[in-house]
Amino acid sequence: MSSLGGIKMPSCLPLLLTHERVLLPGSTVRLNVDTPRNMHLIKHRLLKGTSLKSTIIGVIPNTRDPEKDTDDLPTLHKIGTAGIAVQVVGSNWPKPHYTILITGLCRFSVSSLLTERPFVLAEVEQLDKQEQYTTQADGVSAEDGELQELSQKFYQTALQLLGMLDLSVPVVAKFRRLLDSLPKETLPDVVASMIRTSNKEKLQVLSVRKGVVFPGRQFNLNEEDDEDDGDDTASLERKVHVANMPDAALRVCLKELKRLKKMPQSMPEYALTRNYLDLMVELPWSKYSKDCLNIQAARTLLDNDHYAMDKLKRRVLEYLAVRQLKASLKGPILCFVGPPGVGKTSVGRSIAKTLGREFHRIALGGVCDQSDIRGHRRTYVGSMPGRIINGLKTVGVNNPVFLFDEVDKLGKSLQGDPAAALLEVLDPEQNHSFTDHYLNVAFDLSQVLFIATANTTATIPPALLDRMEVLQVPGYTQEEKVEISHRHLIPNQMEQHGLSPKQLHIPQDTTKDIINRYTHEAGVRSLERKIGAICRAVAVKIAERQADSNTEELTSEGHTQQGAEKAAPPAMPIVIDHRALKDILGAPPFDMEVSERLTLPGVALGLAWTPLGGEIMFVEASRTAGEGQLTLTGQLGDVMKESAHLSISWLRANAKRYQLTNMVGGPDPLEGTDIHLHFPAGAVTKDGPSAGVTIVTCLTSLFSGRLVRSDVAMTGEITLRGLVLPVGGIKDKVLAAHRAGVKRVIVPKRNEKDLEELPANVRDDLDFVAAANLNQVLNAAFDGGFPGTGSVLERPQLNSKL
Ligand code: ADP
Repeated sequence: MSSLGGIKMPSCLPLLLTHERVLLPGSTVRLNVDTPRNMHLIKHRLLKGTSLKSTIIGVIPNTRDPEKDTDDLPTLHKIGTAGIAVQVVGSNWPKPHYTILITGLCRFSVSSLLTERPFVLAEVEQLDKQEQYTTQADGVSAEDGELQELSQKFYQTALQLLGMLDLSVPVVAKFRRLLDSLPKETLPDVVASMIRTSNKEKLQVLSVRKGVVFPGRQFNLNEEDDEDDGDDTASLERKVHVANMPDAALRVCLKELKRLKKMPQSMPEYALTRNYLDLMVELPWSKYSKDCLNIQAARTLLDNDHYAMDKLKRRVLEYLAVRQLKASLKGPILCFVGPPGVGKTSVGRSIAKTLGREFHRIALGGVCDQSDIRGHRRTYVGSMPGRIINGLKTVGVNNPVFLFDEVDKLGKSLQGDPAAALLEVLDPEQNHSFTDHYLNVAFDLSQVLFIATANTTATIPPALLDRMEVLQVPGYTQEEKVEISHRHLIPNQMEQHGLSPKQLHIPQDTTKDIINRYTHEAGVRSLERKIGAICRAVAVKIAERQADSNTEELTSEGHTQQGAEKAAPPAMPIVIDHRALKDILGAPPFDMEVSERLTLPGVALGLAWTPLGGEIMFVEASRTAGEGQLTLTGQLGDVMKESAHLSISWLRANAKRYQLTNMVGGPDPLEGTDIHLHFPAGAVTKDGPSAGVTIVTCLTSLFSGRLVRSDVAMTGEITLRGLVLPVGGIKDKVLAAHRAGVKRVIVPKRNEKDLEELPANVRDDLDFVAAANLNQVLNAAFDGGFPGTGSVLERPQLNSKL
């Protein structure tokens, strides 16, 4: 095994310098090669193209860590092992390197160095001679009697030790056979490769063959390549020491290392412990990126990346400025709350960019097990660290920006409350010693900058909400969406699809069309998708055109600048007009005008709030002869049903005053009459008290036979006595009304203050009616007011420009 096997060793050998591993004759090791000298050697001496040349090279331990391999040659060990490469694999990831599998043949000593560059070439003298072994094996007395004596002693000791083990274990029996069959001189090398020995011990075996003693250490007999393992733990140990971890963590690692060394690899716990230690050495205990905050640059970057959202950007800049002055993170945690696609995540990413920090997003939607956050204890099979520790491992620094996405969608289950774990993570008083169950030692999270996003604060656990500063990110108006499209979305999408402005032009009118007739959202996500769809269609068209022009059979297509196209195909961009839009995106799904729906008595337009933003909501009512039954359809929640009953009661009480009549001409709306109230979009569950005023208006219209104004939308809770109470989500609701082209919005009087937050153009476009009671609502909802609503004085202030 360890003889040269008849190969004559050359007197001049290229030397591969190793730091991590010692190659002994008779064993095979895998070496990682990434220093310039070693890489040159492999490239020039071992590889011919991509195939392997069977050339003998020297492998010699050096004294310096290869990472610090500078230009000077490190000090080399005097003795090395000549070996033959069995396999070489090259890779560029994560950096260029080779992995070489090499079998040791015999020792050599370095007589003199011939060259140092591009790799080391040395004159060498062979030390282990094949003849020595064969003569000894033949029983002829060797020249070196002392060596023979030592080898014999080694053999005896090994036999003795093996005698203590159970020979029925296959690996022990195999070892026993090896002892008997190998030339005695090779035994120390082979045994040193088979049992757990440190690099230092291997170096001893390599250089001082005399008097090599194996102290009473545990033999780790294994069918696997134990050499690999022994050295792996050594390198792991080194990594543990350079990972710069706090004392407590270091102590745990050393303890685990000690256990690992004693464990046979076949034990399942070996892999667990190994994985644990691998994670521990990889964590960024003391690695961080340097903050490079410049408020001016931050402002420019935020402005460049995001149109509008001025309030949010201002608050973010304040936050960053305070952090810069105070150099402390113990501020509030920012939580961006708003509908999807309004740029919450994107602002988070920009914050990381302005700070020069790593960014990592942790999606919390649906997380209902606290071990998702805090990891599983290591006693579980398949245990893993939680998302925080995983995130830190991914970014590789201890001060990244972590974005907790969708904190409002955290679940709860029997496996504990993830919100409680998050609380600990976000609490500056506690998070310097955050303990993941898997790690079981504290990791300091105090340098991490946390940001959260949510669609609504309503479902954020209160304790968590308490830790955060909520910044509302409302939906966009149509004008803002047009600007965002032309400044960001269209250029981005065109770039992503490899299109230039010379090839595609989307006029503003088309963008407006997409916004109004093809999307129905507060944010810009589906708008972005539609623009993406247009880009794809245009890309196909252009590719076809190019193919056509190659064959000089240019065929023109409908709306795309036909004439010009024929004459000079590349010069004209494809302009997306209304017709092109219809061809690409199909018929518009949201084409029904609000006014078209309000053409019959018994229909009113309400405003609803959903986590996806504000929505307009029709309420329809009809009546038939019957026995006073009320039917409600449209998947209503309990609160909404109560609102319906409340409305009927109020109407019954006030029918006379408002001159409402039932089917049989009497004043009680339910007498001889069945009422059916329907809330279209039946697939969506609706709940909440804010439809109260809409139901009353709708029923009043039904019973009076008068049409509700077609440009009015409303929201507000009602009481039995006809008062209008404030409701939530005013801003989003008003934006939805504005999107739908409504002109007048009726809001509860006590919500008037919320209107101040609206963009100025929305306020200018709309006519607000702040109503304190149903009287005022009805007055504003019907053209020319409503009979019975009292004097003109009682009419609420109209056109309140805020
Ligand atoms: P959210 O996290 O609120 O759901 P995202 O941050 O994912 O939304 O935004 C969706 C897309 O819309 C992204 O491509 C983002 O860049 C873009 N976007 C949203 N708001 C703006 C804005 N004000 N200016 C420019 N782009 C925006």
